[in-house]
Amino acid sequence: MSRRRRIYEGKAKVLFEGPEPGTLVQYFKDDATAFNNQKRGVITGKGVLNNRISEYLMTRLGEIGVPTHFVRRLNMREQLIREVEIIPLEVVVRNVAAGSLSTRLGLEEGTQLPRSIIEFYYKADNLNDPMVSEEHITAFGWATPQEIDEIMQLALRVNDFLVGLFLGIGIRLVDFKVEFGRLWDNEQMRIVLADEISPDCCRLWDIDTNEKLDKDRFRRDLGGVAEAYQEVARRLGILPEGGPRDLKGPQTMQ
Ligand code: C5P
Repeated sequence: MSRRRRIYEGKAKVLFEGPEPGTLVQYFKDDATAFNNQKRGVITGKGVLNNRISEYLMTRLGEIGVPTHFVRRLNMREQLIREVEIIPLEVVVRNVAAGSLSTRLGLEEGTQLPRSIIEFYYKADNLNDPMVSEEHITAFGWATPQEIDEIMQLALRVNDFLVGLFLGIGIRLVDFKVEFGRLWDNEQMRIVLADEISPDCCRLWDIDTNEKLDKDRFRRDLGGVAEAYQEVARRLGILPEGGPRDLKGPQTMQ
């Protein structure tokens, strides 16, 4: 793969040393996993689409003043990001009952929630990313009370913006997961949106048909996974030039 030094390899992405100090290159793979790695597969073109979709959404969010780690897209599968200290929490925002919330509380999938709900999960694959409360987060020092407040405010701003953006292209944003990191500018620390925002970590339902346009198609063996991701990119107006045939993209980097 790349000539650059590999810093970290996750299930769907690889992080390489960036061209300048304080930067990293984030490479999007086609690999898909679910249920904490118990289900694995390859979705051809997923990395190319997620690179584009995350670039688009992070850029739009940056324009409304949400600080993000995103700098610029480098090529079909790579983007330049600021190096941040990842806060070890998966922050889930839910608008409609689905997935683990439906299972846990016995709510029918598709039930509108009385208001948006934020949940925190501790990032630990060996523990299956357990749900945690603010008490756990502060007691174990994963984030301070002030950082939790900032994270919740940012998560709700991201949600408000994305709900509207997706509604405009006929998609209901059911829920999504985001991650945040600490970024130092001299002595000043800021919390910024990190990782990615893509159909891998969102539930996106067609507003008219409730058709799933996200990773649940892979998790639940519904088929047409790549086509669903392409449809999201198409509606956002960012399908790579040349269309679906372009999606295999180069496997080599840099
Ligand atoms: O499975 P659950 O209902 O808790 O997922 C809530 C949201 O968080 C979904 O949009 C799912 O795609 C996302 N998620 C994720 N990574 C995880 C767990 C959930 O992106 N490890």
